[in-house]
Amino acid sequence: MVETCDVIIIGAGILGCFAARALSMYDLKTIVLEKREDVCTMISKANTGIVYAGYDMHPGSLKAEMTIRSNAGFEQLCKELGVTYLKTGSIMVAYGPDGDQSLIRKMEQGKESCVPGLHLITGKEAEQMEPNLRKGISSALYSETTGAVNPWDLGIAAYENAKANGVMFHFLESVMDIDCQNKRVSIKTQSNEYTAKVVINCAGSNTDSIREMAFAPSVRIRNTSADYLVYAKGSASQISHVIFYEPEGKEKGLSIVPTEEGNLIIGATESSKMDCADYATRAEDLSALLSFSSTILPSLEQDQLLNEFASVRPNPYLLQNPEVKLNDFNILEDWPMISLVAIKTPGITCAAELGKYVSEKVIHHIGQVQTNPYYDPIRKPIEHPDMEHYKKEQDGEILCHCNLVTEKMIREAIKRGATTLNGIRRRTRAGMGCCQGADCEEKILKILMRELGIHAEEVTKDGNGSEVLL
Ligand SMILES: Cc1cc2nc3c(=O)[nH]c(=O)nc-3n(C[C@H](O)[C@H](O)[C@H](O)COP(=O)(O)OP(=O)(O)OC[C@H]3O[C@@H](n4cnc5c(N)ncnc54)[C@H](O)[C@@H]3O)c2cc1C
Repeated sequence: MVETCDVIIIGAGILGCFAARALSMYDLKTIVLEKREDVCTMISKANTGIVYAGYDMHPGSLKAEMTIRSNAGFEQLCKELGVTYLKTGSIMVAYGPDGDQSLIRKMEQGKESCVPGLHLITGKEAEQMEPNLRKGISSALYSETTGAVNPWDLGIAAYENAKANGVMFHFLESVMDIDCQNKRVSIKTQSNEYTAKVVINCAGSNTDSIREMAFAPSVRIRNTSADYLVYAKGSASQISHVIFYEPEGKEKGLSIVPTEEGNLIIGATESSKMDCADYATRAEDLSALLSFSSTILPSLEQDQLLNEFASVRPNPYLLQNPEVKLNDFNILEDWPMISLVAIKTPGITCAAELGKYVSEKVIHHIGQVQTNPYYDPIRKPIEHPDMEHYKKEQDGEILCHCNLVTEKMIREAIKRGATTLNGIRRRTRAGMGCCQGADCEEKILKILMRELGIHAEEVTKDGNGSEVLL
């Protein structure tokens, strides 16, 4: 049977989830089709999580406008969705003439775009603000409004809020074919058929192939890899701001970002990679990052290194369509399809604004849509028990002692959509402490089996192909 609805969103990364949340303000039947078992399992789970100020985007571009607006509204957004926002400010440091010139250019760009709270400061001033950074800073750009957020916290929160407001999410539904003739869209997944008035293509690294199921090629995506290091809880005390290292010559610019839990994330490198599903790190990139981190933060103990991860950068390149500006957000309108093609940085910062932007276009296209009278923008996070008044009978056993996660929290995470060990990690932080799950993963596996009614062999770390017991 063909399922009929008003809008289909392909992809439940952070952009699909925020497009869904924005559409849930209207009286529409919206379905999200996601090929994986959960939300935010691809680019949206693996990035730097910086909330940008907007000074390094071209003045007048959609990217600059949206970043500045998003940054101004980020605190309120996080309040509505129950997500922690670290408004640390940032310092972009230069150690030579190339970096100095680049900072002057960025300061001018920032002024032209009216970015608030930007200051070009001396190397000495930067060293006083960040005494653990390598000495010899030649100049620095201090931004008061830059911050950091956990990207999957934000995406999961948008998903839960969209779902609570009526959007339906269908997981393990991989879109295989699209027909956009006769002003309606027909979509085939591996097992079902759908029809809708509009389709929003939010398929991340696959947005080009999804679009080409119905239209002639215009923009294609070439994927490169990005590797990161994660340092243990407590390492974030090394810095007080998000740090951007402005490169000299052919060096790569890198970032150092504190997290809510007190970790430090350092990255990202860039190397060639073709497969959009390849999230493996590379030895040479990790060793370059290690050498960077011990040089830029000499007092950071390298035995605090906890983990590593990789991401995929979807780089758009042009086949046809001179309208497309590769340095700006590419939103291609081929009604009844609208595609957010290869949205890279600052897609986390702008996710809510991009969601609003596409939803307004969709509403304009459909015409005469009523608002949803039951829409509620508030979403509550999973609560940590108050450890001073912790009672085992009420909160359940503490399973993850590193991050104080109880059995009750794990059950709540499963109720909210976690089906894998990483799905639980992302929702509760269980297994993300210094023992990396050695102590709790077996117990969590048993809870997953019990709550989902599955066998041990069916429990996966992060979806099909990552079965824990073989
Ligand atoms: C290395 C790196 C660092 C970044 N750092 C920052 C930062 O610091 N700050 C910031 O603001 N932004 C940052 N970004 C940008 C941000 O991460 C992205 O813009 C954002 O995550 C993109 O989200 P998405 O939903 O488009 O993609 P994804 O999260 O990849 O989601 C796409 C979804 O589509 C699904 N899908 C694909 N094909 C199909 C199909 N055929 N059928 C059904 N579903 C399908 C996938 O399974 C996936 O879930 C960074 C990006 C990268 C790569």
